[in-house]
Amino acid sequence: MNPSQTEYSVLLIEDNPADARIVQAYLHNNKYIRTHLVHMNTLTKGSQVLNDQKFDVILLDLSLPDAFGIPSISKLRSLTPHKAQNIIVLTGNQDADLGYSALRAGAQDFLDKGNLNADILGKSLLFAIERFGILSLLDETQRQARIGSWKFNKSTQEFTASDMIYELLDINKADTLNITQAVKQQENFALLFDFIQNKSANEYNYQITTSDGNTRHLLIWADPALANHLEINGIVQDITDRLQKEELLREAEVSKELVKMKEQFIANVSHEMRTPMNGILGLTHLLKETSLDTEQQQLIQGIHSSGEILLGVVNDVLDLTAVQQGKLNIKAEAINFREIAKDLEQLALAKIGNKNLKLKWSVSHEIPDRITIDKLRLQQILLNLAGNAIKFAEQGTIEVKFSVHKTSTQTFLEFYVKDEGIGMKKQDLNKIFEPFTRVAKDLGNYEGSGLGLSITSGIIKSMNGEIQVNSTIGKGSTFHVKLPISIPITEEKKHVESTLDTSKLTGRILLVDDHPINRMVAEKSLNQISSRLEIDIATDGAQALKLMELNIYQLVLMDLQMPVMDGYEATLKIKSNSKWNATKVVAMTANAFAEKEENWKQTGFDGIITKPFNFQDLKILLTNILK
Ligand code: ADP
Repeated sequence: MNPSQTEYSVLLIEDNPADARIVQAYLHNNKYIRTHLVHMNTLTKGSQVLNDQKFDVILLDLSLPDAFGIPSISKLRSLTPHKAQNIIVLTGNQDADLGYSALRAGAQDFLDKGNLNADILGKSLLFAIERFGILSLLDETQRQARIGSWKFNKSTQEFTASDMIYELLDINKADTLNITQAVKQQENFALLFDFIQNKSANEYNYQITTSDGNTRHLLIWADPALANHLEINGIVQDITDRLQKEELLREAEVSKELVKMKEQFIANVSHEMRTPMNGILGLTHLLKETSLDTEQQQLIQGIHSSGEILLGVVNDVLDLTAVQQGKLNIKAEAINFREIAKDLEQLALAKIGNKNLKLKWSVSHEIPDRITIDKLRLQQILLNLAGNAIKFAEQGTIEVKFSVHKTSTQTFLEFYVKDEGIGMKKQDLNKIFEPFTRVAKDLGNYEGSGLGLSITSGIIKSMNGEIQVNSTIGKGSTFHVKLPISIPITEEKKHVESTLDTSKLTGRILLVDDHPINRMVAEKSLNQISSRLEIDIATDGAQALKLMELNIYQLVLMDLQMPVMDGYEATLKIKSNSKWNATKVVAMTANAFAEKEENWKQTGFDGIITKPFNFQDLKILLTNILK
């Protein structure tokens, strides 16, 4: 057999030159093993080379001038405390007793110098290297996994354990050599020992405090297959990290749940607020149309605009919740961009009112007339930024400029809104996109909830766009926005004029709503749109179906949540009966999310209108259906 290609380093610590020469001779050209030998003649010198150099195996003579017998092994270890040593001892005079003691003290093998030959030496070195390698690997594995193994003999009361057990229990191995004493003095060892001797289960979790004051969670396990054997064994595992991770995961779950509950709560409250807002806004709108003196007119106007502000806040909160829940639906609709930009300019001018501000508004001629984008969201973004610019500036020019930017794969609508107002500090710029954040200290004069920009940036993100801000305190701010668009290929839809004349509309309408004020608002609004409309009323879905058996309606305006039979069930019944094919059913909802969830489409509704009604929307709806 050829020796393997690996060359092993061997340290021989031997004071007798003749013995050293014999070892050298047996290792030279050994047919089992290739070695590189370093020879030292005292334990001290041997330890010194060990500190500088790593050896695969040490051949240690047990009668040296500076060390004698078994203590040589522990002395060598104490001189090189950070290195595990692979030791084979050399004994003389067929001293097998000494050899076995050396094994118990941790040597891998013992060799009788009197009986040595090349084969015995080669084989012993190879076995020792292999065995030591496996033990080191096991040790390293235990260290990485933080698992220690132990063994206990019930009859001899002998306890053996891997080094990791002592590390995990935070005790010194030497202190446990006398078990009775160790159990008395070492609390952590006593816990383990109590489990081993009195165990009622195979597994047990316990907690110890280490000498540096940390808490450690340990899992002790005994092999159940050996329960009735004299010798049992098992492991101890450090599960602190695992428990901490599980705890973190649990906490993350709980906080996720809490955030969800909070968002749902806000959404529910806001939703509940929309129903009475419908009443307030609807009724003030109707009241404005009655004969009032100037003072009454002003008071009603005040109520109406306060109501609209409140509705704006409620809508903002709903939008924010939608953004946070990722429920914001972005529509792709073909729009006439120039028309929209013109409308927006008018709205911005109206917002400026009589503030001392100039508006510089420009639309690059490179932007196509028609683009595909979510119109409402675009308006929302721009009005928010322009609104802030107007709010936070007392003089100067507000500049809004739209342009188009094309890359090889994508077209973007870009615009900026620039003001010469109060500006912001650099360090505040990334805070302003967080909800309910207002950054300037002296914002007393400026109304706001701190929601606008977080919603705006959420909408922009949902549209796959980008927003950036530059600002200098006292000089002004510029917000840049980039939104992906496409160029539509379909024909432009007929635009409904905002000055719709609906006074001649005729038809029979069934209004279904359980809420008396909502019913009043809807009925009076319909009457105001056209006095020629015939309106019947039902307070739930079941009543509506009864009325439909008796009369022919062009339109049913159906509330969704009602007692007895809700709007969904009633509409499913209407749509599954062919005799009502000609009747259009439009859902009325205060739930701003319903429109996005699209389940109204699956139910078969022909359209949806959100409460509080926008008068213009209602007019358009009636014009389209009753034409
Ligand atoms: P709100 O305007 O309701 O306070 P926003 O979310 O729209 O809430 O804005 C958050 C904060 O960012 C404002 O309170 C203000 O401190 C700051 N901010 C936004 N726009 C401007 C601007 N154009 N100039 C100066 N500060 C601004």
